[in-house]
Amino acid sequence: MKRTCPECGDKIVGRIDKKFCCDACRNSFNNRVNKDSKNLYLKTKGAVEEKIKSIGYDHVVIAQPGHLLGIRPEDRLRIEVPIIEFFTKIIKPLMIGPLRDFRNISAQEVASSIIAAMQGDVIGVTTLTYKDFIKN
Ligand SMILES: [Zn+2]
Repeated sequence: MKRTCPECGDKIVGRIDKKFCCDACRNSFNNRVNKDSKNLYLKTKGAVEEKIKSIGYDHVVIAQPGHLLGIRPEDRLRIEVPIIEFFTKIIKPLMIGPLRDFRNISAQEVASSIIAAMQGDVIGVTTLTYKDFIKN
């Protein structure tokens, strides 16, 4: 069976379990897949928010947090999470203007803000972002 690299289309030579012709092709393929899945997540979240708004509930609360901080059982297996959290903590003061909404935020603060907004008497759609999470 002739195998070809899914990134560049070149013939793959070597071990049967080799999926790409070289490391560069494997990296560029995986980077694109990760980016696409992140884009798909944001696109789907946006579409779901619009659908919920269109239902016509009196009271809708939408939370748009950045990366959520908190203990996750599966994080022990993902070394990149604490590394990303460490660096984003360092650059946090530089994340101003529109970047502010992408700051790390504790899941607990987000949850408290959602509860507070749900208990409020605002009619219509309330969208919570970073500035709202740090109030409570
Ligand atoms: Zn290739």
